[in-house]
Amino acid sequence: MKKRSFVVIGIVVGIIALILGILYIIKIINYHKTYEYKFLKLDYTKEDVKKLDTLSTETKDYILTLEKNKDIISLIDEKYFIEKHFKEYLDYYKESDYDLTDVVAIVNVGANKEFYTDTKKSDISKGELILTNKFYTLDNTYNSDQMINVSNQYSYGENQMVTEQTYNAFLNMFNKAKEEGLTLIINSSFRSFEEQEEIYNDYKSSRGEEYADSIAARPGHSEHQTGMAIDIQTYGSRADTFEEFDEFKWLQENAYKYGFILRYPKDKEYLTGYDYESWHYRYVGVDAATYIHENNITFDEYYAYFVEKD
Ligand SMILES: [Zn+2]
Repeated sequence: MKKRSFVVIGIVVGIIALILGILYIIKIINYHKTYEYKFLKLDYTKEDVKKLDTLSTETKDYILTLEKNKDIISLIDEKYFIEKHFKEYLDYYKESDYDLTDVVAIVNVGANKEFYTDTKKSDISKGELILTNKFYTLDNTYNSDQMINVSNQYSYGENQMVTEQTYNAFLNMFNKAKEEGLTLIINSSFRSFEEQEEIYNDYKSSRGEEYADSIAARPGHSEHQTGMAIDIQTYGSRADTFEEFDEFKWLQENAYKYGFILRYPKDKEYLTGYDYESWHYRYVGVDAATYIHENNITFDEYYAYFVEKD
């Protein structure tokens, strides 16, 4: 009797041990299938794995095909990292001399490709955040329906037009500058597709495409067609001297408060495709302008990260 119960207990214990053993083996097998295990095996740290784990399975699978690369972790840590560009970042980093921060900015705005290639339609549903640059183009029929005339009290020449929002923001800015004894004058504003076409083609026929591209936007690619871009001057200034005037310095410190940004800053030509223009301002609204001002980025970068969705 006693002996039999020992046998039964023995069998039960044996079965339990077997089950536990099998469960343990299954657990190990399953763990070996996890990304954590695979990344640790590639020599990534636990800290790295946490960051890698925030990525989609598609990106993780791609990373597993590569050797361990600590640039990948730095890349994920980049402030404006957008996962859909992951492979493009790595490829461009390999082939260029730019650092990772620049690579992220360049790929985000599409400037790892030649300007005027791979162009897309501007998304005109974005209001004051419509992006028009060397990759985003407006139709030849695009004219904002809310364009209004600028009083010649604020401009050089007749027939200057901007959107109503841009005008109101400019007037606020104008008045504030005036209080400080400064005068902001709109020198150029809305330009239709046809006008831009004429300007561009004049340069092109007289001095060739390369020169034309260096100095003017191709038709459909000019921000002036949005009615939200203004070229600002003051009494006695010219494009090449505006920077020396107090009006320019004032704009540097204050334009964003009224929703304007210096659209083509110094040393950002590789992103904007335009040489520095101290006179060209773009209305983007106070929120975007403030962010752009405080973080020292271009509108192109802002758009890629905050406005454009996939
Ligand atoms: Zn301009």
